[in-house]
Amino acid sequence: MPKKLCRCGKPAVIFRKYEGSYLCKQHFLQSVERKVKKNIRVHNLVKPGDKIGIAVSGGKDSMTCLYLMHRIIGPRRDIQMVVISIDEGIKGYREKSINRVKELCKKLKIRHYVYSFRKELGKSLDQKVKEVKKSKKYDLEVSCTLCGVARRYLLNKKSRELKLTKLCTGHNLDDESQAVLMNYIRGDLYRASRMGPEPVVYDKKFIGRIKPLRIIPEKEVALYSILSGLNYYGKKCPHRCGLRLEVRDFVNSLEEKHSGIKFSILETFDRILPSLRSQMEKEIGELYYCKKCGEPSSKEICKTCELWR
Ligand code: SF4
Ligand code: ZN
Repeated sequence: MPKKLCRCGKPAVIFRKYEGSYLCKQHFLQSVERKVKKNIRVHNLVKPGDKIGIAVSGGKDSMTCLYLMHRIIGPRRDIQMVVISIDEGIKGYREKSINRVKELCKKLKIRHYVYSFRKELGKSLDQKVKEVKKSKKYDLEVSCTLCGVARRYLLNKKSRELKLTKLCTGHNLDDESQAVLMNYIRGDLYRASRMGPEPVVYDKKFIGRIKPLRIIPEKEVALYSILSGLNYYGKKCPHRCGLRLEVRDFVNSLEEKHSGIKFSILETFDRILPSLRSQMEKEIGELYYCKKCGEPSSKEICKTCELWR
């Protein structure tokens, strides 16, 4: 079978089914960078004077996000960038991935902050999961909930302490389309209303989030990171479980048959987002500050204090 060629005549490294195009290495890398740049520009993700924290775990998405932000925003003198990693305390896994972040930060000369669950919340995720499973208080698929709630809490709190104006994460198109469906399935419209292409802030204590890779499919982020020689950590977290994996398989099987469906899930969601937000603003009314920790919360005690303290 003849090799598929890019429009420039070089051998293709990828076929974008949703666009019907073959791309060589150079044109693929350029195209991803162009899309990310356009996303940043169209949605005004960065502004002069911003101090941006990039949340990096060491996996392919966050490492690519850091690398691209450094290429695109790094040369700007009016914007500062730092990197934040959260060490959840997952033995044999997280320490290795954080080492990869350290290496890249050193290479790019970016300041790197690491905060751990053990120090900030009193115990590691491993300890907490063990405790919860023993108590049989929650179902066994609780690890990602415990982890996600505490990570979001710490990222927000630490970003505020570091006086960051924005927090940047490496969520890709697959993550975002899955999150749209998961929030819908769980009925979590409040969380859904905080998604979207631009940062949304319901309270002065919340640091707005930006996701420059939101329109790049996961497969392309992976290929970009490999072709750029990023030394990311590729192992999967040992605690990974739950609904997200089922939703991911479901969305992937739809995409196989109906190319472009991930884009369509996200674009449809973005169109209904303004109405959802105004509805949520009315329903939520005022936010509370958690009675235990003082962080913003939709209830008197925030989810992190409820689950962790
Ligand atoms: Fe945390 Fe779950 Fe991610 Fe593991 S897979 S790091 S437990 S959210
Ligand atoms: Zn709290």
